[in-house]
Parts: sequence; C-alpha cells; structure tokens
Amino acid sequence: MIMNLHTHTHHSPDAGNTVAERVEAANQAGLRYMAVTDHVEINRYYPAAYYHAVETDEYFYDGRGVFEGSVQETLEEAARCAPLVLLTGAEIGQIPQDIEKSALIYNDPRTDIILGSVHELPGRPDFYFLDYTKEDIPALVTAYFEEVLRLAQTDCYDVLAHLTYGLRYLPNRRAYDITPHLDLIDEVLKTVIRKGKAIELNGSGLRKPQPYIDPDLILVKRYRDLGGKYLTISTDAHDTRFVTFGIDLLEDMARTAGFSKLTVFQKHEPFFVTL
Ligand SMILES: [Zn+2]
Ligand SMILES: [Zn+2]
Repeated sequence: MIMNLHTHTHHSPDAGNTVAERVEAANQAGLRYMAVTDHVEINRYYPAAYYHAVETDEYFYDGRGVFEGSVQETLEEAARCAPLVLLTGAEIGQIPQDIEKSALIYNDPRTDIILGSVHELPGRPDFYFLDYTKEDIPALVTAYFEEVLRLAQTDCYDVLAHLTYGLRYLPNRRAYDITPHLDLIDEVLKTVIRKGKAIELNGSGLRKPQPYIDPDLILVKRYRDLGGKYLTISTDAHDTRFVTFGIDLLEDMARTAGFSKLTVFQKHEPFFVTL
C-alpha cells in the first residue's frame, strides 16, 4: 500500500488517536506515505468566543489551535516514524470564505500538503446536517460545485478533497444522476489541472452500508481525459482502525481510471510514485 494522504487525529474534534498510534498502525500495514491533515474550518479559525458563539459537538472552532497542535505533534513523530514517510498538513474547509487565513496555513513553512474542502456553503450548515426533504437537491448540488469551483480557483490547496462531498449525505447517494452537473464539474477539473493541483480518491464512503468511492469512477476518468496527472489516495480515517481500510480497492480504481502513478506532496511539490 502506497499512501494515505488524508487522515485525522485527536486534534480534530471528530476524530481520535494520537499521531504515534497512527504511525504504528501504518508501519504495521506497510504503508509508505501518510499525511496528517486535521480539520481547519477556516470560517471558524478562532475559538467560539471570538464569534460570540458557543462551542457545540457539531461545529469545530479554533482551527488555528487545531493546526498548531497537529503540526507540532506530527513533526515530532516525523523524526522517528521510519520506514513510513510522515507528511505535515491540514484539511482546510471553506477556503473561499477566507482566502487570507487559508493562505497563512498554506504558506506555513512546516506544511507539506494542504487539502481543500467544501463542507458547508456560505451561511449554511454542513452538508451532514441538512434536512434533504426540505432541499431543492439539484439546486443544492449546483451551488455545491460552484463553491468547489471557487475553491479550485484559489492558491491555498494542493489536493482538492472529496470532490463529491455535496452528494455524500443525499438520501440515495449512489442513484443521484450527476449528468446535469458535468459541465460545471469539468470546469472544476480543468481549473485543478491548470493550477497543477491534484484530486484525491477518498475512501471514507467504503465504510458505509452502501459503499462508494468519492469521486465516482466516471469523474476520475474524466479528470484523466482532460489531462489530469496528479492523483492521491486517502481513507479520510478518523480512527486508527481505518488507516489502511480500502486502500487496495482505491489503488485498483486508480488503475482502472488509467493511472500508472500516484502523487505525493512534500513542501507542496508533487512527485510521482509508481502504482
Ligand atoms: Zn472533509
Ligand atoms: Zn477529512
């Protein structure tokens, strides 16, 4: 198994385990590259009090504090994690909502890899918390990909994470027809390619009763057909049990989509690893 470039540790409010525990499991499984990418929701970069808000289990504040703790612990472990190569990073949510603060994280010299994610539309709850019976779903999905396009156009990420997150919690996710959104998705993919960034194959959906990979094979092939070269693999593990869960399947999917190489980022520079 080559890589898992998207993992969360106890620094993320919705995840557990220390970086050392992750490293031990990764080495036991023979993983070669792992990135620690704890949550920095950029629209909640400061503690809740700054926003006159109250911390809840549902929304994470203090992205800056999460980032500092995560980076420090990851750097300590990176010095003693061989044979694993441990990369320092973050998953920044909602980059278009605060590009200046996102750039602070991206340009932090300690970071290797930054994932860019849209978990929420401006002023709306996380897609996880939406009541889909009350939503105009095609309009919601269009708004999602428009926001992803705004993210893709920034310079604050290396990997566009879980391209189809906006579909993840739809009542029947696998049956949703993305055809009407393909032109917009193509714009996203072309923007990623033009900027020399990557997309990921995110395997968190493999842990669901109706498993799926994000994005779907058709979109990974489309990315490649449009000229996409940089592809990463991740389980988006929030628990050490899932540190290598489904990676074999994700590697197979990458090959099926026509990729013979995966990409690792060190200090934001991509390099290829043979698949
Ligand atoms: Zn995410
Ligand atoms: Zn994540």
